[in-house]
Amino acid sequence: MLTDTHMHTKIFSSDAVQTPEQIIKTAAGLKMARVTVTDHYDMDYPHKDEIMEFDLEEYGKTFPLWRDLSAKLNGPELLMGIEIGWQPHLGDRIRKAAAALPFDSVILSNHLFRGTDIYYSTETGLLSRKERNREYIGTLAKMCRQIDDFDIAAHYDYINRYIEDKDSAVFYSDCPEQFDDFFDALISRNKALEINTSSIEAQIRKGADYIMPDPDIIRRYIAMGGKLFTIGSDAHDCSSIGRHFERTARYLRSLGVPELFYYKNRMPVSDTEYSAFF
Ligand SMILES: [Zn+2]
Ligand SMILES: [Zn+2]
Repeated sequence: MLTDTHMHTKIFSSDAVQTPEQIIKTAAGLKMARVTVTDHYDMDYPHKDEIMEFDLEEYGKTFPLWRDLSAKLNGPELLMGIEIGWQPHLGDRIRKAAAALPFDSVILSNHLFRGTDIYYSTETGLLSRKERNREYIGTLAKMCRQIDDFDIAAHYDYINRYIEDKDSAVFYSDCPEQFDDFFDALISRNKALEINTSSIEAQIRKGADYIMPDPDIIRRYIAMGGKLFTIGSDAHDCSSIGRHFERTARYLRSLGVPELFYYKNRMPVSDTEYSAFF
């Protein structure tokens, strides 16, 4: 099974419910050779009653124990990642966090829309689909130009995750200029575009008209020279690990995506499991 490059543990991510042991057992059951754990690190998170950061030193000390546990249980290789939340004023602190530990992979994400987590935002639903997509993708472009210390840009489609309209999805045609800017920022600096299968699950849950990522988004990224794709479940509970991976891999294959990658020692590695879909 393909490597799952994005997931959270309840030990370091306050919104997750799965333990490392559950991750190990679930991934082993799915015959995954490796998974990347990417706990949340959102500095200056605006919702004060929630802490979305953790002690980096503690994470560095705990990770080897999880690796030992996985070896004991004949589980997958555990790659150490982090999902860092971007805000415009955090540049130096993000660089510092990314360099604090020998991470295998650093995911950069934007969970906020006009200062509020998209999960809580009432503003996103008041805008037209085009308006909110244009603003969000434009912000991702800005994020990727400001920060160089990351490997993967997370869930470009997060903006629509909690909007219940059937037509809520992200389309290339909504904001081609912003997408081209975002893709140029990624491609020119060798960063990967993440296909997040929690976004696919959200589309299914809300009965949306479009379930899979817009093919024009994938085709445009490839046409501009984009080669680095990752796939991540963004699992917060173990039933989500590897969710929709086979369907998504077949879909990406049909659109001409030649390789999927995971990161080890901050370097992209082609996932040989993807060849099963050719
Ligand atoms: Zn995220
Ligand atoms: Zn995540």
